[in-house]
Amino acid sequence: MSKSMGILAKLLISFLTLSAIPLIVLSYVANKNLNETGMLATRRAEEMGARNLAAAEQIGRTAIEDSVRELDAGSTEAVELRTLELAQRIADFLYERDKDILILASFVPDPEKYLEIFSLSRRDIILPEPQSSRPGEKQPPELTSGNPENQKSWRHRPPDDFARESLPLYREITFIDLEGQERIKIKDGKISEHRINAAGKEETYCKAEDYFGRLDHLRKGEIFVSRVIGPYVKGWLYTTDEGVKVREESAYAGRENPYGRRFEGIIRWVTPVFDGHDEKIGYVTFALDHKHLLEFTNHVVPSDKRFSELPDAGSGNYAFVWDDRDRSICHPREFFICGYDPETGEEVPGWVSEDTYAEYLASGLTLNEFVERLPSFRDFTQKKPGSTDQIKAGNIALDCRVLDTAPQCQGWHEGTEDGGSGSFLIYWSGLWKLTTYAAIPYYTGPYANSRRGFGYVTIGANVDEFHKAANSTRAEIEESIRLQGRDIEATAVQTRELIEQSSTRNRNILTLITIVSVAAIIVASVVISLGITRPLRRLSEVAVAMGRGDLNQTIEVKSKDEIGQLARSFNEMAAAVAEVDKMKSEFVTTASHELRTPIQAMLLGVSGILEGYSGKIDEEVREDLLLARDGIERLTRLVQDLLDLSRIEARKIELNLGRTSVAEIIDKAVEVVMELALFHDHTITRNVPPGIPKIVADKDRMIQVMVNLLSNSIKYTPDGGRIVIAVEAVENEVIFSVADNGYGIPLSAQEEVFKKFFQADSVMSQKVGGCGLGLAISRGIVEEQGGTIHCESPIPGGRFSGLPLGGERKGSVFIVRLPMDGSSGV
Ligand code: ADP
Repeated sequence: MSKSMGILAKLLISFLTLSAIPLIVLSYVANKNLNETGMLATRRAEEMGARNLAAAEQIGRTAIEDSVRELDAGSTEAVELRTLELAQRIADFLYERDKDILILASFVPDPEKYLEIFSLSRRDIILPEPQSSRPGEKQPPELTSGNPENQKSWRHRPPDDFARESLPLYREITFIDLEGQERIKIKDGKISEHRINAAGKEETYCKAEDYFGRLDHLRKGEIFVSRVIGPYVKGWLYTTDEGVKVREESAYAGRENPYGRRFEGIIRWVTPVFDGHDEKIGYVTFALDHKHLLEFTNHVVPSDKRFSELPDAGSGNYAFVWDDRDRSICHPREFFICGYDPETGEEVPGWVSEDTYAEYLASGLTLNEFVERLPSFRDFTQKKPGSTDQIKAGNIALDCRVLDTAPQCQGWHEGTEDGGSGSFLIYWSGLWKLTTYAAIPYYTGPYANSRRGFGYVTIGANVDEFHKAANSTRAEIEESIRLQGRDIEATAVQTRELIEQSSTRNRNILTLITIVSVAAIIVASVVISLGITRPLRRLSEVAVAMGRGDLNQTIEVKSKDEIGQLARSFNEMAAAVAEVDKMKSEFVTTASHELRTPIQAMLLGVSGILEGYSGKIDEEVREDLLLARDGIERLTRLVQDLLDLSRIEARKIELNLGRTSVAEIIDKAVEVVMELALFHDHTITRNVPPGIPKIVADKDRMIQVMVNLLSNSIKYTPDGGRIVIAVEAVENEVIFSVADNGYGIPLSAQEEVFKKFFQADSVMSQKVGGCGLGLAISRGIVEEQGGTIHCESPIPGGRFSGLPLGGERKGSVFIVRLPMDGSSGV
């Protein structure tokens, strides 16, 4: 700390360094740490949130995959089971027909009996319009269980509200004799006279029935069952932006072409009839209306809709039936059902690929012959397009063995080889489809040739449909994860905001505390410092005043601490010094007074003797007496000086102020010292310009001052010196200068010479007779009148004209400034 710095500044700096700076550092560090901890916490929370979210996403994905797999497996199982059961139901239905034919065969052939059976054999088919869509029909209220214990996962569906129509099972019932001639014929609900001979195909249905040729070996109870026979109905598909459409002129195709021409098919049952002697007399036959077979598949929907009144092959969810030769016999698009040309009785060949069709064109065979010879399931792939010629002709029946654009045909065929059931997935028409298959376990007559039985049922289902549940779970999980993510994000933002707010609050509090503390420290430092420095400053002022001689000083003491103690000690000391000084002054005054009278008497006595009042005195005595008179005179002056000094110190000097001419003061003073000056061969020059105004001063005392200054110049200047007295008036001051060309006064003594008893050159003083009081008294007199006195040495050359300087004669000048009106000092 700078040496020139005050205690107040030092204390302030110390206090601040020791308390405020650590406080600020502490507050900064605390704040920073708090902030960093907060940010770390937020970051950790965010990371944790992100990890949780990722985990939730992972769990969600796994759950979805698991549930999709489970649901797929479940759905696959359900569709497979449905296929199997459908196949079983068809088989059961067909077996029922076996019973019917055997019952018929047990009767003696009789048109009336046959007609009765014809009329009784009916079965409902579903009409394409639901009952609920009819006007006036009300939806029944939702059904629930009355027992709360059954309400968990309660599911209920009302019965279907399909409109139904009762349709005869059989198109015809006939009895033919052993030559094939129809003997009895029930057709269209009545006994028909239009009887034909079934021995040749010509008169049969579609000219395609060849059953008579297969009856010969039939024993009692044995049955022949034909394949599906019916005229092929053409169909045309075309593609639009919305997908594949069916032309109106095509066969019926369910929802896609509801008013199209129907495929009118039959399946013929035949069994021999015997008379009472077990003699075969003919055969009973009936033709099952193929519509009843269609009824099994046309309403199946392998989705949660389960059934529909109108089949919709375009939806991708449908059921088909294929016969034991893998030919389509039930299909919602009836132009796909294999049929015959009723003109020729020829089978309409199945649809083949463009490549295979080209092969046929090159073969030189008829298409029938070509297809007949074509190896089954050769190079099946959906990469091949279908033959456009066949498409154009509308001949697109599906015969799985040659339909080489549809690889699933081969899968179904292979899967039903052993009479079993199953499924596989196939990418078909832009969709992943589950396709199931199940052999129809009906093994009557020719159908006993393979384990495939009557043929097989296949059901196609859009895989997306089964994924619906899983997909909705996926959507729910994803939504919940999204919400959770949003929550985590929002919480993170909130947390960050809270931490920022709290950190700002903490920062503000810390800043406030720091500011208040620093302010308090500054105030406390100032108060404490002032408490210390004010008494010290007062002490120093008092000490300075005492130094100047003003001994009546006391310091007001309030505190009892060390500083109070110091002030008290100082007061005691000051009192003691003042007491001693007072005693000294009193002593000097008393002594001087007491000495003055005897000295005066001695001087009068010695002067009288020297004047000769006591008679004539010899020369030796005179010299002694002169020496004595000199001593007495010096003693008189000393006593006078001491008295003056004690009056000045006691501030008891009495001034006799009056308007005084400056020139008069100087003249008087020069007059007093002239003798002594002449004795030392000095020249005194007065430089008093005319027009110096009169001043208000004590004339005698000013003469005393000037005499004193002149006497010193005379005394301390080697003989033959020059003394200049100059006077000038500057503003409202008169400046007296007494200069000489003596040896000068060293700088260190220039202030000291005004102190009492100080003699710069004691040898000289001794010689010229002085006691170091003159200048002290002079200063006292001048200051008492409001003026100042000081000395300067050496004198710069040329300052006073007529004052030769140089070498050892440095010269000294005493300058007295007095206010003209004499007011300020009084
Ligand atoms: P003294 O009675 O000794 O003259 P003063 O108070 O008059 O006492 O002077 C004090 C001292 O100042 C002297 O002893 C002397 O040493 C010095 N002094 C005063 N005037 C002069 C001067 N004009 N030249 C040199 N010294 C001086």
